[in-house]
Amino acid sequence: MDVPAKVQEIYAEVLRRNPGEAEFHQAVHEVLESLAVVLGRHSEYAEMKTIERICEPERQIIFRVPWQDDAGEVQINRGFRVEFNSALGPYKGGLRFHPSVNLGIVKFLGFEQVFKNALTGMPIGGGKGGSDFDPKGRSDAEVMRFCQSFMTELYRHLGEYTDVPAGDIGVGAREIGYLFGQYKRITNRYESGVITGKGLGWGGALVRTEATGYGAAFFADAMMRARGESFDGRRVVISGSGNVAVYGIEKVHQLGGTVVACSDSSGYVVDESGIDLEVLKQVKEVERARIAEYADRVDGAHFVSRGSIWDVPCEVAMPSATQNELDGGAARTLAQNGCQYVVEGANMPATPDAVALFRAAGIGFAPGKAANAGGVATSALEMQQNASRDRWTFEHSEARLEEIMRGIHARCHETAEEYGAPGDLVLGANVAGFLEVAEAVHAHGLI
Ligand code: NAP
Repeated sequence: MDVPAKVQEIYAEVLRRNPGEAEFHQAVHEVLESLAVVLGRHSEYAEMKTIERICEPERQIIFRVPWQDDAGEVQINRGFRVEFNSALGPYKGGLRFHPSVNLGIVKFLGFEQVFKNALTGMPIGGGKGGSDFDPKGRSDAEVMRFCQSFMTELYRHLGEYTDVPAGDIGVGAREIGYLFGQYKRITNRYESGVITGKGLGWGGALVRTEATGYGAAFFADAMMRARGESFDGRRVVISGSGNVAVYGIEKVHQLGGTVVACSDSSGYVVDESGIDLEVLKQVKEVERARIAEYADRVDGAHFVSRGSIWDVPCEVAMPSATQNELDGGAARTLAQNGCQYVVEGANMPATPDAVALFRAAGIGFAPGKAANAGGVATSALEMQQNASRDRWTFEHSEARLEEIMRGIHARCHETAEEYGAPGDLVLGANVAGFLEVAEAVHAHGLI
């Protein structure tokens, strides 16, 4: 069988085994498209069904999460943990609490995580988890009771050498605290390395909070430098106003760009003089309020409740909210408005149509599995500090993050050239990540 037919066959089998999981199919398809060139050079991976094995999670856990709300009413949510691949180290990947969470979404995120973690060069496998619980509008006491119930089942699957979760959408410092507290209580172990994103006073690492956003900005900077350009004086739009977006904005400003718009699920704000971070952090991090509040407090800023943030003209777009938030129509608008770079801060925020359009238009495109790897890389640095009972300075941690992100860019760039697709960072990231995982999978025998 020729290589493209083999890849088609693998994809057909993934569709058959995982019905109805659209996001998982999309993530697998994007990777498989890049892997034909690898199978052409490595027949052993075809013989040993290495790709097929990597597409099948090692373990999938689904559980009931019962809890009581403040009114005393019983609530039932569903918890997930997909332990996707441990060839390179313990499963590592965040927990997402959002009403949209289902098995297909967790599997897409876990699958992406495997390659992302490999690209960091750190010894971490890939996994992901979460729940359809919505923390929005819930009191701290309700969030705590939910987290305690969630961990009461999840703890038996975790361990610093087994599976190490972190945050993602809807899971920030507050949730990590409640989850860690319950793990410690059940196991009677102060196992710092069992979860990352911890508070600074109890095992957390400096720069972990900033890492994903900062890392995406460093990656974008590396991409621009490869073309002899920089952030200096550029108009940037970043969607979202959560962890990734806020610190993406901070670093873009430090690198000389101006972020003129950001958003949440209720709409977007435009501030031509550059987003005022102090106000944004107060609204989103402290008050957990809606983004419209920003426009109410900043002169010259305005809020748009309908339409798309991608209508705002920019030279650099960094989608940093959620999957499939930037479709073909939005991509066309960005291209027409002169956008030159698109850097995924979120996981898979651009649809396949959008990615195809960017590549055809010669717009520099950075896939999330490379550009947003700074968060998990810094989580691995947190585990390293926990293991050695050490604490690094902010400057040292940030320098390590920058070095890792520039290294990931170089690796994707070089791999793309080596495999005959110069400048194609999607192919570069998929092939480089796959080769790292595949070699370890192969070495471990048929398990
Ligand atoms: P977060 O702090 O919860 O913020 C998410 C932001 O995106 C919020 O502004 C949220 O608005 C918006 N959003 C979420 N779902 C949305 C939807 N369906 N439609 C429109 N807007 C939506 O989450 P985060 O940690 O920044 O994560 C953002 C993305 O980055 C996700 O794709 C995540 O997987 C990825 N990522 C995160 C990390 C990390 O270290 N945190 C690392 C790698 C990748 P509302 O508040 O209105 O919901």
